[in-house]
Amino acid sequence: MAVDYTTRDGVAVITLNHPPVNGLSHATRLGIIAGLDAAQQDPAVTAIVLTGAGKAFSGGADITEFNTPKAMQAPTLATLIHAVETSPKPVIAAIHGIAMGGGLELALGAHYRIALRGAQIALPEVKLGLLPGAGGTQRLPRAIGLEAALNMIVSGSSVRSEQLADSGLFDEVVEADLPGAALAFAQRVGSQAGPHPCVRKRPLEHPNAEGFLQFARNNVAAAAPHFPAPQRCIEAIKAGVLQGFERGLAAEREAFSALLQTPESRALRHAFFAERAAAKLPDVPVSTPLRALHQIAVIGAGTMGTGIAMSFANAGLPVMLLVADAEALERGMTKIRANYEASVKKGKLGADALTQRMALITPTLAWDDLKDADLFIEAVYEEMSVKEQVFRQIDAIAKPGAILASNTSTLDLNQIAGFTRRPENVVGLHFFSPANVMKLLEVVRGTHTAPDVLATVMHCARQIGKTAVVSGVCDGFIGNRMLEPYLCQAFYMLEEGALPAQVDRAIEAFGFAMGPFRMSDLAGNDISWAIRQRRYREAPQRHYPKVADRLCERGRFGQKTGSGWYDYRPGERSASASPEVDALIVAYSAEQGVARRMLPDEEIVERLVYALVNEGARILTEGIAARASDLDMVYLSGYGFPLWRGGPMLYADSVGLFNVERAIRRYAAQPNGAAWQVAPGLAERAAQGQGFNDAAR
Ligand code: NAD
Repeated sequence: MAVDYTTRDGVAVITLNHPPVNGLSHATRLGIIAGLDAAQQDPAVTAIVLTGAGKAFSGGADITEFNTPKAMQAPTLATLIHAVETSPKPVIAAIHGIAMGGGLELALGAHYRIALRGAQIALPEVKLGLLPGAGGTQRLPRAIGLEAALNMIVSGSSVRSEQLADSGLFDEVVEADLPGAALAFAQRVGSQAGPHPCVRKRPLEHPNAEGFLQFARNNVAAAAPHFPAPQRCIEAIKAGVLQGFERGLAAEREAFSALLQTPESRALRHAFFAERAAAKLPDVPVSTPLRALHQIAVIGAGTMGTGIAMSFANAGLPVMLLVADAEALERGMTKIRANYEASVKKGKLGADALTQRMALITPTLAWDDLKDADLFIEAVYEEMSVKEQVFRQIDAIAKPGAILASNTSTLDLNQIAGFTRRPENVVGLHFFSPANVMKLLEVVRGTHTAPDVLATVMHCARQIGKTAVVSGVCDGFIGNRMLEPYLCQAFYMLEEGALPAQVDRAIEAFGFAMGPFRMSDLAGNDISWAIRQRRYREAPQRHYPKVADRLCERGRFGQKTGSGWYDYRPGERSASASPEVDALIVAYSAEQGVARRMLPDEEIVERLVYALVNEGARILTEGIAARASDLDMVYLSGYGFPLWRGGPMLYADSVGLFNVERAIRRYAAQPNGAAWQVAPGLAERAAQGQGFNDAAR
């Protein structure tokens, strides 16, 4: 049963009982209506308490019914709220844990509200590119005032019940015993004659509503330029303020339907479900038992090792940090402390937290100190011989059942697993730099990685606040493998006539956080140079654009050397175009016998994005990733792909795969076209009129 109904001392108690957060599924809505009807018919009942079982009042819409007919099947949430609001017997919403979205809208329909301290109150629909569609934009302003409500609705952020104690939302905020308080309250109001108060009938007053709404519009335009939902929220609120409740409701309904169709909302909903889907593996059941991870060991204290250690300490997990020599260890610990101190200076971290986090990281030079570790993460030099030495060492001391992870970016995880006597316990944990900041974590599944090892590291990723995506073993895994053809196109376009600033400007206007050249300068051009040199040896027959090598031959490694594709003034990160690099590029074109041409921005964007899409299609066909939305998650959380476009694969779906394929064929007929071969997985879907994400919801 999604809803329980009981009566006690003249009060009917309707309890939402639909774990985990009492989502308002069709069955739940039906159950509440049935409860209301039963209460009206029972002459002994004078009042009705509406409450939630478990840890929440209600988290709102049931996400498992999203995009299914059940979501809109009668009784809709609006019908339900109407039934609550027009109930002749007073309805008291008793709120604990969470009242969000539709859950809060339902509570706003009640005549009275009592909350337990600590409950989280929010209308987060804007985060899915929508607006509260069951009267939230009309009732919340009437409950707590225009300004506070608008801020909550436009930001989607949650506010604790005690902070809203005097706002007009709650009749009481209690410290404990919510059921007892609700029962007593219900008996009191049940004995009073009606009519009982209704939020919709409250006046909505503001000394300068139009001025405030204009101010809010300007703020939102600056803060969220690519998202239509916040503006539509403001418009719906405005209609309610200026034209009354009913007109406001109509405006809200219209805005909701319009927003549902926007590409931005589609992208946000896609990202929301993609993140949840990425956590699930088709062949690793959710019931897989997890291994306990109490003690973490990180090997290597360079760029990555220090960031990884901080990620665990930030989540309150103790970490041992081991390096081969004392000086490197000292450097690593100094770097960690400096990083935390910078956060304290910026006011992002308290001094106490700094002390606590430093205390969680124990530096050591002795392998024996790591023997109790449950999870080892290796982040030493990217050389197979070094990895071999380290993994043999870990294998020698680790206890049975310990998980052995490598942070390698490019090496074969299966070969690394082969250095141990327990390849089933070896997994890749590919963090991104800076590891304590970047959300993305690629979990690399080796041929022998055990299901419970995968389940455990996926769970651990969530604990340390990462978005984990599983990748099979291949060169570059998901993210960097897709990036390679993207960078190749960027280099080809330089050869054909573009300059770094033009390419970066075009793709940044499309929405990327950073174009390929600014990104390379940040990551270090020498790193990709080393990888290319390996590729030249491994695949000498392949044609690679060499312009980036010319840059590296001049020592222009990027921000760290003060010069790369751009020039950087000492101590500054802002890039300025370099006449030297521009001349180098023009000379390179001449050397290749290419007559430079002006490349339109549209071509730049298509060639870069479709290079990602085409390689993504191959990754899917090879089974390196389980689903297209995993690739989108990688690009949204680790590579600065614009969120409002939903990731490269969803973007390709929205353009239409037929159109994507046609464009690729056009570029394949141009000079440097040999780099383009339409991936069979793309061609097949295009021929069948399918999208990459069609198989999903
Ligand atoms: P780094 O050169 O900054 O640090 C390497 C660390 O390993 C140093 O502290 C060094 O003292 C230590 N070390 C070397 N040999 C050792 C040994 N035998 N025993 C113990 N410690 C040893 O390198 P990094 O950039 O942190 O990269 C480390 C790993 O992470 C590499 O596999 C790299 O491919 C991968 N990675 C790097 C990035 C990045 O952006 N830098 C991103 C993802 C993954």
